[in-house]
Amino acid sequence: MRTIEQQSAEDYRDTLYGQQLLKGFGRLLFVPELEREFRRYLDRQARLAQQLGACLLILVVGGYLYVEHRLFGHLDSEWLYELTLLRLLQIIPGLVVLSITLFFKQVRDIASRMLPLFVVMIGVIAARIDMHYEATQPEMAFRYGAGLLIICSFFFLGVTFWRAMASAVAIVLLDLLIAFMILSPSELQVHWFSVSYYLVLLVLGAISRYAHEYSEREQFLIRKLLGWVAQHDAMTGLANRRSFDTSLQQMLLQARRDRQPLALMLFDLDNFKSYNDSLGHPAGDVLIKEFSMLLDRFARRPLDLAARVGGEEFALLLFDCDADSAEEIAGKLLTALAERALPHPAARGSHVTVSIGVAMLQPEQTAAQLYQAADAALYEAKQAGKNRYELSPRSQRGDER
Ligand code: GH3
Ligand code: MG
Ligand code: MG
Repeated sequence: MRTIEQQSAEDYRDTLYGQQLLKGFGRLLFVPELEREFRRYLDRQARLAQQLGACLLILVVGGYLYVEHRLFGHLDSEWLYELTLLRLLQIIPGLVVLSITLFFKQVRDIASRMLPLFVVMIGVIAARIDMHYEATQPEMAFRYGAGLLIICSFFFLGVTFWRAMASAVAIVLLDLLIAFMILSPSELQVHWFSVSYYLVLLVLGAISRYAHEYSEREQFLIRKLLGWVAQHDAMTGLANRRSFDTSLQQMLLQARRDRQPLALMLFDLDNFKSYNDSLGHPAGDVLIKEFSMLLDRFARRPLDLAARVGGEEFALLLFDCDADSAEEIAGKLLTALAERALPHPAARGSHVTVSIGVAMLQPEQTAAQLYQAADAALYEAKQAGKNRYELSPRSQRGDER
């Protein structure tokens, strides 16, 4: 039996989210556009954990430093000096992460990219300190430091599986490298215990992180898909009335703020009832989809929006578009539809046409008033014989804005 997720993905195979769900993501990688979005999401989710992790690091390492000073203060000053430096180096990443996430929010992305490197650095230092104890005081070599960092790289940090894997592997490899450099052959033999322990942690961490991230990615896609469904019309894929109303409000505010003209066009297919009655409802649906595709081509700039606002009624919202340009676009759309020459059953040789009402945003006008003005212009276009556009009277005076 197919799951709801599979069914939704089939239904929405035209969206990026549906396509990705259908294609799968076994390698834990989305198409680049989605991957960027997912990483931002992951990073937002993990921000608090990153801050708490940084505090914990500073506290724990600071605590070790204090205890180590008390233990070795009068014994081995050379080691104590090196140890102090190493501990301070371990604390620095914690301070960097904390201050960036709290005070320099504009460079937060850089902090997230540096996290895997920081983990490797702290892990390698922990391994180095452990090796010293393995060689000099075996009872103090607890092999937890680097191991903990291997686990940390897989969880809490908001980095993806592959980056976590890279930092965990780097910790193990660098540990081996340092061990070969500073340990004697007999110490090296004992060190293999640590390495085997790190490898077990690496495999366990990788398996659980893989499973966790797979379901995180699936949830992300499904949530995004639900958001898309709530804002779009299922039949045509255009924005639906609800999201159109929200966008109209936002664009109106932005147009006022930026002192840019805002044009609203409303469309209503001509004699659609008789099209439906003669050819059937399914044929009417096909026509609605055809017209939607044509309309969508006219929403060219990022802020332009094409929407299906009713059964066979559509809207086009054009930011930074004056009355002359709006009229030109309306004319082009009528021409483009005429060129498609979609047969209409009303009479021999007649074709599908549309009527358009155009209104420019006026000072002090609300979103509802702008919509009414475009609707009134559309009514005028119908009255004047259909297959034409009409500009709302106030928009003609050139006092838009
Ligand atoms: P006019 O030129 O004045 O617009 O006349 P008209 O026949 O197009 O009249 P109107 O705009 O009122 O037509 C609305 C029709 O659209 C009625 C309804 O059956 C049909 N309709 C609404 N939604 C859908 C839909 O999703 N699919 C189909 N096939 N028809 C729809
Ligand atoms: Mg209608
Ligand atoms: Mg109509």
